[in-house]
Amino acid sequence: MALIKRNLFIQIIKKMILSLLDFTMKKISSLFIKKSRRWDSESPLHDLDLWALEKSRTGNIAVCGMDTLDLIKTFGSPLLVINEPKLIHDAKMIQDALTTTAPSDSLILYSYKTNCIPVILEKIHALGIGAEVISPYELWLAEKLKVPGDRIIYNGVNKTRESIERAIRMGVIAINVDHSEEVERIYQVAKGMNKKIRVGIRLALVSKSQFGLEVESGEASYVCKKIMGFSDYLELVCIHFNVVSNAKLSIVHKSCAHMALKFMHQLKIETGAKIEYLDIGGGFGVPTTKKMSGKEYGLYRLFGCLPKPPSPNDLQSIESFLAEIISSIKADCREFDLEIPKILIEPGRYITSRCEFLLVTVLTVKKRQNGTNFAMCDAGRLSLTFPCDFEFHEVFLANGFNKKRDKLYNVMGRICTSADWMFKNKYLPELKPGDTLAVMDAGAYFSSYSTNFAFPRPAIVMIAGGKATLIRRAETFEHLTAMDVFESFKPNNQG
Ligand SMILES: *Cc1c(COP(=O)(O)O)cnc(C)c1O
Repeated sequence: MALIKRNLFIQIIKKMILSLLDFTMKKISSLFIKKSRRWDSESPLHDLDLWALEKSRTGNIAVCGMDTLDLIKTFGSPLLVINEPKLIHDAKMIQDALTTTAPSDSLILYSYKTNCIPVILEKIHALGIGAEVISPYELWLAEKLKVPGDRIIYNGVNKTRESIERAIRMGVIAINVDHSEEVERIYQVAKGMNKKIRVGIRLALVSKSQFGLEVESGEASYVCKKIMGFSDYLELVCIHFNVVSNAKLSIVHKSCAHMALKFMHQLKIETGAKIEYLDIGGGFGVPTTKKMSGKEYGLYRLFGCLPKPPSPNDLQSIESFLAEIISSIKADCREFDLEIPKILIEPGRYITSRCEFLLVTVLTVKKRQNGTNFAMCDAGRLSLTFPCDFEFHEVFLANGFNKKRDKLYNVMGRICTSADWMFKNKYLPELKPGDTLAVMDAGAYFSSYSTNFAFPRPAIVMIAGGKATLIRRAETFEHLTAMDVFESFKPNNQG
C-alpha cells in the first residue's frame, strides 16, 4: 500500500515538473517570437538592392527586368534563378580585390562544391577564375569545362588513383594531401606515368576539424618530409588551409596564415624547403546571410526562435578583408625570413551566394486551433533549402514585396515528414495558396545540398538583359529511375 502511494506521489511530481517545463518552454518561445517580430520589422535586409533585384510596377520582385511570377509561369515551380550580372559583379569584386592587394601570380579558384552547375562555372571561368575541386567528379567536370590545369587545385579526402592520374595528366597547380597515406598513392601513380607532380599539404589548424594534418603533433612536418623523400616524382609546392565559412572579418584567416607561415619557417630550417604557394582557402563572408551561433542554433531547435538577421554593415569589404590578410602575410614573412609566397584563394560563397534565389509556391495554408499557421510550399529543408537549417536566410513574398509582414508562419515543404520545414516562426505578409516566396542567397550550397526526396529536382534559369535562359532542366520521373536495375521495369510505363 505504501509502495503504491509512493509511486503515485512520484507520478504526480513528474507530471507537475513536465507541465512546468512545458509552460516555461512556451513562455520562452513566445518571448523570443516577440523579439523576432521586432528584429524582422527592423531588419536591414529588407532591401532588394543587396541582391541587385528590383520591384516591378505591380510590386512583384523582378530580376534584370523580368517579373519573377512570369518566370514561374514559364519554367514551373519551384525554380532556382540566377541573376547573371550580379554573379559577374560579385566575381569581379573579389578578383579586383585580389589583384590590387596580392603578389602577382596569385590566383583565385572557385570552390566547385559551393554551386556546381556547369553553366555557372563556365561564366566564372570566362572571367579567368580557376577551379578548386574536392572530388573525382569535380575534377572530371573541370576538365570537361576546359579549365587549364594551371588553374586547378585538387583538394579533398582520399583521392582515387584514377583521379590522381587525371590530375597529373592535366598538370594541376597542386594536389593537396589530406592524410599521410595519400602520399604513397600519388607517388606510385606519378611513377607509373613517369611524370613529376606538384603536391601540397592541408594543415589542420582548428582542433575540431577532421581535415588536414596536425602541426602540433608533428604529423604535418612528417608528411612534408615524406613528400621530399619522394623527390624523383613529387615536388612540395603548397601549404593549404581552409578553416571558416562566411567570415565577416579577416581575423581568423590572418591568424591561420600566421600559423601556416610559422610552419613553413620551421620546415625551411629543418629541410631548406621553399614553398611556392600559400593557399588560404575560402570562407569569405557575404552581408546577407550568417551562420547561426551554437546558441542561436540551439534556441531555434528547442524553442523555434529564429535568430536575429545579420547586419550587412558588420561585414568587412572584400578589399579590406584581403588587404589585411596580405599585409599580415607580408609582415609574417619578414618575421620568419621567408620569401612572400604566391597566394591562392578558394572563394565559394562570396562569388555565388547573392546572385541566386529560389522561387517556391505556397500550396496551402493551414491554421491550427493552437494558433500555428503552416504555409505548405513546394520546397523545404529536405529538398532544396537545407542551408536555412543553420544559416539565416531572408525570404520575401515575391508577389507583394511591400506588404506588411505581420503574420507568423511555419513555412513547410511538401515531403511527408515533420523534418521538412523551411522556416520556423517567420514573420511574413498574410499568405494564400498560389503566392510565391523568394528565398534569398540560394547560390551557396542550395543546389549542392539538394535532394530528390520524393520529388524531382527543379529547373535552373539564368537571367540577363531581360532574357531568361534555361541552364538546367527540371528532373523528370524517368531521371529518378534511370539507374534502377529492375527486370520488369519499363521506363515508358509511367503514367
Ligand atoms: C568549401 C570549401 C571552400 C569554399 O568555402 P566558402 O565558405 O564557400 O567560401 C574552399 N576551400 C575548400 C577546401 C572547401 O572545402
